[in-house]
Amino acid sequence: DVTIGVLALQGDVREHAASLAAVGARAVPVRRAAELDAVDGLVIPGGESTAMWKLATAFDMFEPIRKRLAEGMPAYGSCAGMIMLADHVLDAAEGQQTFGGIAITVRRNAFGRQVDSFEGPISFAGIDGELHGVFIRAPWVEAVDEDASGVEVLARVSGGPATGRIVAVRQGSLLATSFHPELTGDHRVHGVFAQMVRASR
Ligand code: GLN
Repeated sequence: DVTIGVLALQGDVREHAASLAAVGARAVPVRRAAELDAVDGLVIPGGESTAMWKLATAFDMFEPIRKRLAEGMPAYGSCAGMIMLADHVLDAAEGQQTFGGIAITVRRNAFGRQVDSFEGPISFAGIDGELHGVFIRAPWVEAVDEDASGVEVLARVSGGPATGRIVAVRQGSLLATSFHPELTGDHRVHGVFAQMVRASR
C-alpha cells in the first residue's frame, strides 16, 4: 500500500500516524529531505503554523516540500496544516510563510477568543452522515481566491456564530480541514486522503 509521511517538526504527529495506519497506509515521520523523497503523500499536522514555518526553514525542508507539492505530491493539512497549504494568510505572524498550493485565504485563530475551541457536527461532501468537528484555535477559510479554479468546498460550519464559514477544501491533490479528525477516532477523512494518494500513484 501507499507510504504517507507525517511532517514531524511540530504538532500532533502521532495522532495522524495512528489514523493513517487505521486506514491501511504505511505512516512514517518526515523530518529530513531524504525522508520526504520516500513518501507518496504528506500529512501536515495540527500545531502552530508559525513554529512549523520556522522549523521547516531551520531543517532545510521548506523548499523541498514546496517542490514536491508543485510536482503534485498529495498533501493533507489539518488546522495549522491547512494554514501551511493556503496561498494567503490573514492575521499571520511577521514574515510568516506557507508552502501554499491551495488558492484560498485563511484567517488564523478565526473563531476568536470566546470560542477558542469548540466542537460540533460537520457534514462533509463525500462522507455519509456527520463528522465530529474538533476546532482548536482554528483557522477558517475566509475566501476562495478569485482566480481560483478547482477549489472544492467540502464543509462549512452549520451552527453558531460562525455558521457558513468554510472549514474543509480540496484543490486537486491537496486537502485541508480547519478541524482535527485525527483526535476523534473517526478515520474517514484520512480514508479520503489515503484514496487520493492511491489514485495519484
Ligand atoms: N492557531 C494555530 C496556528 O495559527 C493552529 C492551531 C491548531 O493547529 N490547532 O497555527
